[in-house]
Amino acid sequence: MSNESVEKRIEELREKIRKYDYHYYVLSESLVSDYEYDQLYKELEKLERENPHLITPDSPTQRVGSDLTKEFPPVKHKVPMLSLSNTYNEEELIDFDRRVKENLPGNSKVEYVTELKIDGVSVSVIYRNGIFFKAATRGDGFTGEEVTNNVKTIKSIPLKIDEKKLNKLGTSDFEVRGEIFMELEAFRKLNEEREKNGEKLFANPRNSAAGTLKLQDPKIVAERPLDIFVYYLLAEKELVKTQYESLITLRELGFKVNPHFKLCKNIKEVLEFCRTWEEKRDELPYEIDGVVVKVNSVEQQKILGSIAKSPRWAVAFKFKAKQATTKIKKIVWQVGRTGALTPVAELKPVFLAGSTISRATLHNIDEIRRKDIREGDTVIIEKGGDVIPKVVAVVLPERPVDSKEVEIPSACPVCGSKLYRPPGEVAIYCPNTNCPAQVKGRIKHFVSRGAMDIEGLGDALVDMLVDLGLLKSVDDIYKLKEHYDELVNIEGLGHKSVNNILKAIEKSKSQPLERLLYALGIRYVGAGAAQKLASHFGSLERLMTAKEEELETIYDVGPQMSKSIRAYFENPENLKMIERLKNAGLNFESSLVKPESQVLQGKTFVLTGTLESMTREEAKNEIINRGGKVSSSVSGKTDFVVAGENPGSKFAKAKELGIKILDEKEFLELLNKGVEK
Ligand code: NAD
Repeated sequence: MSNESVEKRIEELREKIRKYDYHYYVLSESLVSDYEYDQLYKELEKLERENPHLITPDSPTQRVGSDLTKEFPPVKHKVPMLSLSNTYNEEELIDFDRRVKENLPGNSKVEYVTELKIDGVSVSVIYRNGIFFKAATRGDGFTGEEVTNNVKTIKSIPLKIDEKKLNKLGTSDFEVRGEIFMELEAFRKLNEEREKNGEKLFANPRNSAAGTLKLQDPKIVAERPLDIFVYYLLAEKELVKTQYESLITLRELGFKVNPHFKLCKNIKEVLEFCRTWEEKRDELPYEIDGVVVKVNSVEQQKILGSIAKSPRWAVAFKFKAKQATTKIKKIVWQVGRTGALTPVAELKPVFLAGSTISRATLHNIDEIRRKDIREGDTVIIEKGGDVIPKVVAVVLPERPVDSKEVEIPSACPVCGSKLYRPPGEVAIYCPNTNCPAQVKGRIKHFVSRGAMDIEGLGDALVDMLVDLGLLKSVDDIYKLKEHYDELVNIEGLGHKSVNNILKAIEKSKSQPLERLLYALGIRYVGAGAAQKLASHFGSLERLMTAKEEELETIYDVGPQMSKSIRAYFENPENLKMIERLKNAGLNFESSLVKPESQVLQGKTFVLTGTLESMTREEAKNEIINRGGKVSSSVSGKTDFVVAGENPGSKFAKAKELGIKILDEKEFLELLNKGVEK
């Protein structure tokens, strides 16, 4: 390459990497696979190594990938939070061992600690007087962002350390660092829920942990199952002499330390550990992307020091990505219960990370265009934390000469209706609510475990019953008993299983409102929202007549959801169907409302100023949970104005109208006791 083209390539790589970094660290999404990113990064490192005069301080190789969003207060790290340099094979690890030894005096004996490299987000937590004081993200390594309230929601992180343990430690002011992550199962559930609510899916558990940590509302964070493994202990004075001791001490202090760490006497034992875990990684309930190898002695760590973005005494051994190459045989369009069409690639079966893959989701047409995916293409597929694998990239040189761009279908592949694409949306829809694919999808959702939980009505049986014309709408489920003779004649179903299914159907009639609401499959109403709606309204009838404004007083219900709920209950077809469910004897009441706890029933509150004991959002929630309402402006209908520190104009207005004003103490009392009847 000429000098000029090297310079150009370096700039090109930096540009790309900066863009990917921004998406990855700040927006918590990946535009390319880690493998692809690491290839570009390695190419940049190589070019810079060969042309050191072209290295600039702002090159991504010289700085820690920054996750600064400016949405949280900045926190300066006392000791920089660095990244780790990567090794991708055993030779590179042996090189690392050699470099470590070269940089230490004489014939120093070096021991290493190997730890699993948890695929999450790093965080620093500061303890003062043994109490959780502040938590911060890595940021750009020097300055992070304060995420104290979010990290406090993680149940496995102690908020206070036992005094006896602190005495033993010799200090009560220290910092711990660790990795916040989400277990695979929790991640799958979260994505399932998001898919049902029509929200954007997280690509992998790491992205979902990173995205969650950066939410502004700790209440939502608390609902997401984040966890943490802690791996560093830092203090003004030296508390430990080795990394091994550090891990043991952390464990004794009550922190969650990953149990799979090992003290290795030499690099051979390190390699052994890496090999073992590369094979066993799928047995863990969380994702790891490698092994971190750390020089054990703190004294040696100090001698070795750091380079720009990583310490010289530690290295990451990265596992091979869970990727495979295969061919797309065909691209088909699946119609879901909302009528949205999802393109799916039918693949030449390939074995990957423990299972044979023959399908991969292509998400939507924009994704297909962006990656330029076509039938007949050879593609790289990847299994993230998700069950459904995805296509990462096309191997262009192998593209057949006669390949054609994927065409957007104009008619529904199931019912033939003309498709439409709502303005501003990526998805294409089949408008026919009677389309058999939509009917099947709605019924499968209705009977599913988190919804009405009707055992025995599996996917294949639902498909068959819809095809036979026995099920046209969810309420037909409750008329199945009238078709007993036809049911027992279905192959594979005898009297016993039909009776069991009919029993399960009867039993489902008493499911509480929250289940029924979720089962109806109203757009954006997931299981969590269904619970909140049910506990607020208590009965389906009350919810059906609620106005958008009232719906939006409920915590977590935004305009999008409230509009969707209104639209659902204004649709005459839906109203008829609900009537039929009622006649079938379904329960329309919630199990969540306890009348004795509705101590603020019918009272309207306005909040102004800052409360000490809770945020505005929390106060709103406390009121709503007790049956009260929260309004944004003071009027004759307001019962109480809660005034915190520095109240605004609402305070004056309340005085003017003679409305009862509560200070924080009075408000808390009212929450406890309720209003006198
Ligand atoms: P890294 O994830 O490769 O390694 C450093 C991090 O490992 C530390 O900051 C710490 O958070 C973590 N870690 C986990 N377990 C640990 C343990 N036991 N001890 C110490 N640290 C532990 O570095 P990075 O700078 O966070 O990210 C770089 C990598 O991220 C890239 O190599 C790439 O794979 C990926 N990335 C991907 C994209 C993309 O678009 N796909 C973009 C940017 C980065």
